[in-house]
Amino acid sequence: MKPTIQRPVTIPDSLSTPVITPIMPSVVYASRTPDELDSQYEGRASGYTYAREGHPNASVLAARIDALEGVSGGIVLGSGMAAVTAVLLGLTKAGDHVVGGDQLYGRSLRMMAEDLPRLGITTTLADVSDVEAVEAAFRPETRMVLIEVVSNPTLRLADLDGIAALCKSKGGLLVVDNTFTTPLAVKPFEHGADIVLHSVTKLLAGHSDATLGWVAAKDPELMQRMNVFAVTTGMTASPFDCWLAERGLATFPIRFQRAQETAKRLADHLAGQAGVAKVLYPTRSDHPDMSRAQSLLQGQGGNMVSFILDGGRAQANAFAHAAKGIAFAPTLGDVGTTLSHPASSSHRALTPEGRAALGITEGFFRVSVGLEDPEALLACFDDGLSAARSA
Ligand SMILES: *Cc1c(COP(=O)(O)O)cnc(C)c1O
Repeated sequence: MKPTIQRPVTIPDSLSTPVITPIMPSVVYASRTPDELDSQYEGRASGYTYAREGHPNASVLAARIDALEGVSGGIVLGSGMAAVTAVLLGLTKAGDHVVGGDQLYGRSLRMMAEDLPRLGITTTLADVSDVEAVEAAFRPETRMVLIEVVSNPTLRLADLDGIAALCKSKGGLLVVDNTFTTPLAVKPFEHGADIVLHSVTKLLAGHSDATLGWVAAKDPELMQRMNVFAVTTGMTASPFDCWLAERGLATFPIRFQRAQETAKRLADHLAGQAGVAKVLYPTRSDHPDMSRAQSLLQGQGGNMVSFILDGGRAQANAFAHAAKGIAFAPTLGDVGTTLSHPASSSHRALTPEGRAALGITEGFFRVSVGLEDPEALLACFDDGLSAARSA
């Protein structure tokens, strides 16, 4: 038999169509003629050319997240931090100033503190639960304000509406990292955000098996600039990760509802236990921002609960060791409940005094509630608490 040439591939014709998105890992796409390639590059025809510039699995996933956030034209990137970078570095220049929440995600804080200043972009951190603190941080050259609606790990609520009005009057872009809250609790574009981003790695994908980000801007010109920057700097998402996230997203609304119900129960349960000094959950009546959580999040407290044990590191060690079945791991939004200890992980770079100023002590834990049987989960916490009490 004579050897034949096998490329480009031919996909068999089928009158019927697949019910799920096929995985398309092809790095390059073949065109028939230079004229046809021209028409693609010039926007007269649609199609893919090279996967770093876009591929079908990223497009399908982006459109699904666009629909959740009520926007169009969003893009999927290789991680949540790629999305943060596309905004912070893709839309600023030397001489600009950026305001950020003082309890942003750790790597976002690092970018604000180290990378932007190195490139001549100055930054100021402010308490975003207080619009006056954000106003005081504003300068004539302030280009944007980056906030998270619910802070990590103390679960304080940003004054989203107040900051949106401030950004509008002062001419700065409002950027919201909506990872913690998700579009089921708040849709920041409806509150005046200019740009919304996600770590899709967390609740949206939901299974701790794909690292991805998403970002969208209302203004198509800003969107275009971020997209070109992301393509140039190689922030491309893997087709397989996009496919996993699309699969995860199919159950996101029911996962969110279930995890939130259990989180509420866990918060109330912990608050009644000996050895627990404090519980933080946005919709509880003892939370400092409870009324804002009721209005802004429509009473949806989310799946994150923080609590403080009486005692110090010894009690924290005893709790983490005895609460078997709860992964002591620094992530959130997984189908399984995860426990994080900010003093030894996300906030370890701070001094004990710096942590104390945020209310983070050695007994402080943050819980991302998952989908386990609620009774079994409460029993795990009880095991941890009884060990902490006798430590
Ligand atoms: C995890 C996280 C990020 C970063 O996302 P990665 O996908 O890990 O890069 C950004 N913001 C928030 C609020 C996060 O929780």
